[in-house]
Amino acid sequence: MAASTSSLLRRSALTLGAFNSFNLQHSIRQIQSSFQPPIRQSTRRTMSRVSATHDEEASARAAATEANTGAPTIFDKIISKEIPSTIIYEDEKVLAFRDVNPQAPVHVLVIPKLRDGLTELGKAEPRHEDILGHLLHASKIVAEKEGIVDGFRVVINSGASACQSVYHLHLHVLGGRQMKWPPG
Ligand code: AMP
Repeated sequence: MAASTSSLLRRSALTLGAFNSFNLQHSIRQIQSSFQPPIRQSTRRTMSRVSATHDEEASARAAATEANTGAPTIFDKIISKEIPSTIIYEDEKVLAFRDVNPQAPVHVLVIPKLRDGLTELGKAEPRHEDILGHLLHASKIVAEKEGIVDGFRVVINSGASACQSVYHLHLHVLGGRQMKWPPG
């Protein structure tokens, strides 16, 4: 549709001789764009992810500077309920709540209530084996509760180059749509 519109316009404009080259190209582009199909929602999301990705990298680098200070993170406030969250699952060791910026129809974060040095997975030690297993099992419970146990993804970003932005270990449980591979 856009191609035939373009050639029709070119012919008309050349016949009329009323446009200089710049105006002709400009007008064609303007009219062609009015024939473009509307940008699909998914495409729009992809486009916004391009700039969001740069933001995420920058904020991950900024967050990394505080990674080893032991400073409390926003997740401490979620655990203490100072900051509201939508809790999906909770037991004595872990808390699972919806991500505020979901990357899939289901996006839940599973965190240990006691950080105990687990600012990131890269800091895990043998003493953390129990809680690490508990977090994985809690992720499966979350997937069941959310109705995605037949297909879901668990992601752990560890460190700035993986775009970790909160230095309190957390598992992302994602699902409710077809996932792609490889991840970005
Ligand atoms: P990461 O980039 O792997 O460190 O993930 C941190 C996640 O925490 C991001 O997906 C954020 O959207 C999420 N997040 C940050 N603040 C909140 C909050 N107040 N409630 C829920 N999720 C949050």
